[in-house]
Amino acid sequence: MAVTVVGSIAFDAVKTPFGERERMLGGAAVHFALAASFFDEVRVVGPVGDDFGEAEFAVLGTRGIDVSDVERVPGETFFWAGEYGWDLNTRETLDTRLGVFETFEPKLSQAARDSEVLFLANIQPDIQRAVREQCTGARFAALDSMNLWIDIARDSLVSAIGSVDCLVLNDAELKQLTNKPNMIKAAREILSWGGPSAIIAKQGEYGATLITKQNFFSLPAFPLEDVVDPTGAGDTFAGGFVGYLAANGGSGDDEQVLRRAMAYGTALASFNVEEFGTERVARLTGDEVAARVRELGRYTNFTDTPVALRG
Ligand code: AMP
Repeated sequence: MAVTVVGSIAFDAVKTPFGERERMLGGAAVHFALAASFFDEVRVVGPVGDDFGEAEFAVLGTRGIDVSDVERVPGETFFWAGEYGWDLNTRETLDTRLGVFETFEPKLSQAARDSEVLFLANIQPDIQRAVREQCTGARFAALDSMNLWIDIARDSLVSAIGSVDCLVLNDAELKQLTNKPNMIKAAREILSWGGPSAIIAKQGEYGATLITKQNFFSLPAFPLEDVVDPTGAGDTFAGGFVGYLAANGGSGDDEQVLRRAMAYGTALASFNVEEFGTERVARLTGDEVAARVRELGRYTNFTDTPVALRG
């Protein structure tokens, strides 16, 4: 099943306590596509400026990602700068320059419109909506966003969320979006809107939680001692999650498939944070992913046996 993704295609400047990069390939759609490419054909939609070179395209090319819906236009590629302190769960955005996204009006190819699976990665909600409307063939659509868009484009974002089956958001952003003090309450509120039937709360180094009307499933992050740069972990998680779903029926109806998809997302995200930007995932192998999923399964599995409890 083919997966189409729209979202930022970017240059990132990132500083963490373990080093920095002044300008590296990034963007929500890029991180997503690299991860999803382990499962299926992936097609990226979005604009890049004339500063986006062959070296950047080559990173996508080596994983067989279809870039025929990436438009090169005059101007600057989306640019984001951020800095992390010792607590890698929180970061400060130092700069966001939309560049060529400012005037982008998506016009998708027929192949992209026909994709069975669609991911609306983080970018202006108006763009997410325009792409959702064009992708009439999508049987499963998911969406990610962030605090900036909740702050400046809430109504459009709520409308975009209403058009997808699954919402992926940080726990803090779920609370911000719904004005609820608790992540579960926030997810239940969004489920009551009648749009998505599955909510994934990303919790950084603490993992991710899936909340549906009937069920609840939580996985910790893969335990790592050395985390170098968390940028793109959420998008990489989403790429693994959605990619796995696409390769296994393409719908969010089967609870066990959803849970396994969470495991693949978690494993892929753990590789992403081991090095800066796309560096680790770009040279990752399927065997390495499979081994980490098995290890995660060992760490998170337990069997209850009846015991006599006092009281
Ligand atoms: P994550 O760490 O998963 O939240 O994703 C980080 C990626 O999102 C970076 O590569 C940035 O280029 C991109 N990004 C940062 N801010 C925005 C924004 N406002 N809209 C879209 N993408 C963004």
